[in-house]
Amino acid sequence: MPASEPLIHVVEDLRFQSHESPPGHPERPERLAAVSRALDLHGAHLHRMTPREASEEEILRIHSRDHYGLIEETAARAPAQLDPDTYVSRRSLEVAKLAAGSTIDLALSVARREASYGIAAVRPPGHHAEAGRPMGFCLLNNVAIAARALQAELGLDKILILDWDVHHGNGTQHSFENDPSILYLSMHQFPHYPGTGRFDEAGSGAGLGATVNLALPPGCGDEEYIGLAHRVVVPVTQRFAPEMILVSCGFDAHRDDPLAAMNVSARGYREMTGVVARLAADLCGGRLAFVLEGGYAISGLEEGTGAVLEALSDPESVSLETPLAPQASTLHALVEASAAVHRGRYPGIGAA
Ligand SMILES: [Zn+2]
Repeated sequence: MPASEPLIHVVEDLRFQSHESPPGHPERPERLAAVSRALDLHGAHLHRMTPREASEEEILRIHSRDHYGLIEETAARAPAQLDPDTYVSRRSLEVAKLAAGSTIDLALSVARREASYGIAAVRPPGHHAEAGRPMGFCLLNNVAIAARALQAELGLDKILILDWDVHHGNGTQHSFENDPSILYLSMHQFPHYPGTGRFDEAGSGAGLGATVNLALPPGCGDEEYIGLAHRVVVPVTQRFAPEMILVSCGFDAHRDDPLAAMNVSARGYREMTGVVARLAADLCGGRLAFVLEGGYAISGLEEGTGAVLEALSDPESVSLETPLAPQASTLHALVEASAAVHRGRYPGIGAA
């Protein structure tokens, strides 16, 4: 054990369970109870922050006024279905604003070094929410709203959003694809919902290269995820040199998840967290916050959250040895596919 455990700010509140789902829906309030159990096991160094709702001004940095109005209007006549996956219950607008506002405060507190790390155990999730369209269980894009708040409130110049949810975060990518100041790096199952996130989606205009997509075939597990963390996430992040790292932290790449076909175990989440924590320590004064996205197996949410906390309590215990990628391996093919798109900008990809 390290000499002193880091202080971790946590957003966790029963009100996040008041966004009610239709019977049988995978994005259900019980998900947060699973995360809470894991947090309680590591409870000694956690400080719970008081949640607050995001202001309209903060939300409108990412979303259109029509988008906000649509959620407001559907909440008033709830329960309502916005698309086959996405629903609004009576308190959903309030809960979504709490999720976004709390994620902002968490990110700001970590950026100001009031805590070593942050974890936002919020719902509804956010990364599929587009500027003008709720989708994929997501109403407001919590991580995107927080990134813009960091820039607006603290003047941060460059932010990395690392998204290891098993689904591609179309909403986050589209929010920043023309913007070189926010690098979006996603590891996701492909092809899969929502259909975006090909390797060659690399940003556009001034933002070309500030979108990095790792489109993984079904069946990938710890070897591929840990290997990509070392061989792609590390060189890209070192070259980009962010001032803060936000992780869109879904746990649906877990081997038990019912909505995807990946095989990540606790070891995978622990080692990825360790790599990211070491990057944050080297590059941006340790500024690192995790924002819950998906994850639909109770076991995956518990194990994943526990693994993140374990790695944060002692990042030095995680090996920084770059795993081998034999020529015929899936990992090798994935690194090469990424290098083919990005090697000019990030020469470290695929080197060695
Ligand atoms: Zn997901």
